Amino acid sequence: MLINEQNVAYRRRLVKVCQKMHINHFVRGTSGNVSVRIPDGVLVTPSGIRYEEMKPSDIVHLDMEGNICCNEWIAESKTTPTSEWHLHLAILTARPDVNAVIHSHPRFATTIAVLEQEIPAIHYMLGIVNGNKVPCAPYRTFGTKELSDVVVETMGDRRACLLAHHGMVVAASDLWQAFDMTIQVEAMAELYWRSCAIGDPKSLDDEEMNRVRAKFKTMNYGPQ
Ligand code: 13P
Ligand code: ZN
Repeated sequence: MLINEQNVAYRRRLVKVCQKMHINHFVRGTSGNVSVRIPDGVLVTPSGIRYEEMKPSDIVHLDMEGNICCNEWIAESKTTPTSEWHLHLAILTARPDVNAVIHSHPRFATTIAVLEQEIPAIHYMLGIVNGNKVPCAPYRTFGTKELSDVVVETMGDRRACLLAHHGMVVAASDLWQAFDMTIQVEAMAELYWRSCAIGDPKSLDDEEMNRVRAKFKTMNYGPQ
């Protein structure tokens, strides 16, 4: 298959988002991975490649069953898809509203995930995840279908989920919205961590959070 212009543009955008993830310390070393839905499948980051060195030709094109779609760049790049391709495909398959998925290991969200805790609604901006909390999926080994199953189930129709003893995942309508969602969720995790360090933070109740979410929706506010 010949790579078309649209496919190349998506690859470039994906690499740019990965570099921003790295600069912001949301991923370290080769941890984390990113995917975006395209008309004929999904583009995913390669496994075990350092973000500073990632090139558009390293991005892997998969069909929705996880098979690699061959193209003229494959021989040159020799990359394999992220070990978390099950997770990315499972979310994209279960959620027609989602076109981009980012899995990361940011320090504050991962700290909460290590404690097997969720992030409660300690601040109104948490409503952008389309829920009244960021839940925490039970631990499963990285890169397994079992992990993707528990994450899809725990996340439901929210846009973010913690992964116990691992990290977090966000789902959004496009790549930059997913990047913005990662920033916001990590900020909520930091606020929760810091407020727990000096006190006992109270959560906004469901009624208020439902009001906030309805307002976000009418204003089209924040990452979607
Ligand atoms: P990959 O390098 O295979 O994408 O794995 C990183 C990771 O975070 C696994 O959970
Ligand atoms: Zn990971």
